[in-house]
Amino acid sequence: DVILSVKDLTATVDGNSILKGVDLEVKAGEIHAIMGLNGSGKSTFSKVLAGHPDYKVTGGSVSYLGQDLLELEPEDRSRNGIFLAFQYPLEIPGVSNLDFLRVAYNAKRKQAGEEELDAFDFDELVREKLDIVKMDAAFLNRSVNEGFSGGEKKRNEILQMALLEPRLAILDETDSGLDIDALKTVAEGVNTLANADNAMLVITHYQRLLNYIVPDYVHVMANGRIIRTGTKELAMELEERGYDWLMVEETAAV
Ligand code: ADP
Ligand code: MG
Ligand code: MG
Repeated sequence: DVILSVKDLTATVDGNSILKGVDLEVKAGEIHAIMGLNGSGKSTFSKVLAGHPDYKVTGGSVSYLGQDLLELEPEDRSRNGIFLAFQYPLEIPGVSNLDFLRVAYNAKRKQAGEEELDAFDFDELVREKLDIVKMDAAFLNRSVNEGFSGGEKKRNEILQMALLEPRLAILDETDSGLDIDALKTVAEGVNTLANADNAMLVITHYQRLLNYIVPDYVHVMANGRIIRTGTKELAMELEERGYDWLMVEETAAV
């Protein structure tokens, strides 16, 4: 089962060419890591998949579960089972975390043609999921992410993921400056929620995240393209040797 198929994807921001031909295929049951130096285009790639309006796709294709992802509005991408971790870290004063989660969850049920859960049933469900992220129930009654620490926001994201049960989760960790606890939360969340029907795309420039998540594939992005694909050993090699040798080989190949 192919979940995501990206072919020769190019994209610009403010007229600057950032993605220069990304190819990637992700199948059900797989965990993929995308690594790369700062500025290589990792976050741009995840934002393009999310449908962020600042990013203009100029070529190539993205198919998600057999449909043209680029034709879907951002909301429909998430309703159809794409989860983007950076989509929610915004703070929403005055909206309780519980209400926010219920709206997101029910939107997805509606899309699937299922009946919405009432407040009582939803409360029960969310409490089961709290265990996965070892989150205190008190967080449910606070405003969304308001005054949450970085680690608490991360836990909250994983809680959203546990509730929404995405087919494709995209976690861009690059800019979040995660401490080791938050890193473990993300890793445990990914490991707990990964199954044969879904796929995880973990974007990181920290090799150390991969001490806790074992990806099936490791891709290296440089200059807006995936220049190398390997397994966990590639991540270890990058840890040991840095990125320069890859870039040299890449330049030599061009
Ligand atoms: P990464 O996540 O791998 O660090 P990014 O995707 O954030 O890389 O950035 C890739 C390149 O795109 C960088 O050179 C960055 O400066 C540029 N870029 C990203 N967003 C914008 C933007 N909104 N306007 C102009 N340039 C941008
Ligand atoms: Mg980034
Ligand atoms: Mg980022």
